[in-house]
Amino acid sequence: MEGGLGAAGAAVARAAAAGLAGMDLGAPSEEPDSHGYTRGVAEVNSGTPAQEPDSHGYTGAATGVASNGMGGGDIGAARSALATLAELVLEAHSVVALTGAGISVPSGIPDFRTPGTGLWERVDPMEVAHIDAFREDPVRFWRFYGERFATLGGKLPNGAHRALVAMERHGLLDGVITQNVDMLHRRAGTEQLVEVHGSIASCSCPACGGGGVGLCEARARLAADAEGVPRCDSCGGPLKPDVVLFGEMLDSARLQRARALCERTDLLLCVGSSLEVHPVAGLPLLTLQAGGSLAIITQGPTPLDQLAAVRLDGDVEGELQALARAVGVDTD
Ligand SMILES: [Zn+2]
Repeated sequence: MEGGLGAAGAAVARAAAAGLAGMDLGAPSEEPDSHGYTRGVAEVNSGTPAQEPDSHGYTGAATGVASNGMGGGDIGAARSALATLAELVLEAHSVVALTGAGISVPSGIPDFRTPGTGLWERVDPMEVAHIDAFREDPVRFWRFYGERFATLGGKLPNGAHRALVAMERHGLLDGVITQNVDMLHRRAGTEQLVEVHGSIASCSCPACGGGGVGLCEARARLAADAEGVPRCDSCGGPLKPDVVLFGEMLDSARLQRARALCERTDLLLCVGSSLEVHPVAGLPLLTLQAGGSLAIITQGPTPLDQLAAVRLDGDVEGELQALARAVGVDTD
């Protein structure tokens, strides 16, 4: 990985990995098997021992994590973690959010890692959403991706997206880095946005380099094509959505921008991401390495929970709206 984490980052990574069977956080790969999909998840011992919070909501871990107790249901403790986070946000010179699939779940877009949900249940994403599948059988690729366009195209941002927009407009958030390709941060109105896996907003032509075909136009061409493949106006080649497919490299400019944001922020809000998919999973380590703090707002454990200053694991929409209110921002 170019410009890797360096020795200090590797040390942080090792600390993060302590107790996690065989998960090498120090070697983020730019391979987007990556694109929302981690083959090794099943092998990772994500069962980090849950620590019971005391009455003040602190777990007593060496890192002083304020937590709502991993679903323990202690309302006082949850409030304490939220208050701690609100204080961190208000004190920080720079706050950045890093979002994953979990933030789009309230919009009706299931996280494909959740069993029994969605499109991915019926197909192997590693096979059908792979760059080789696109190259070898664009008809089959588009049979799947057309359905994905149809599913994602009509979804609307939810209160979690809006809370981040409201915070940005009040000068309390410098930007959003997202793993999602669903355009919901854009639609909500986030201005400083890094879509590290691209988005479904446009398609381009790998054959001749033509680009900038918008989602509506691509869908219209798909519907009009006898084989169901949206085609390039110039050369007739199959268009490819401007998302990072499995087997493709991430766009280095976008990744650099994400890294720069993470390195200079005082507080990284990790929202709705399991923080298991590299290279995005390495971004919080850049923040820690530079002396910043992490807040993790997601359901279910992450490999970095023990390094977070605050851990909230309620519904992301409710948590972010509560955070926005706690820092004095109206989200409606
Ligand atoms: Zn072309």
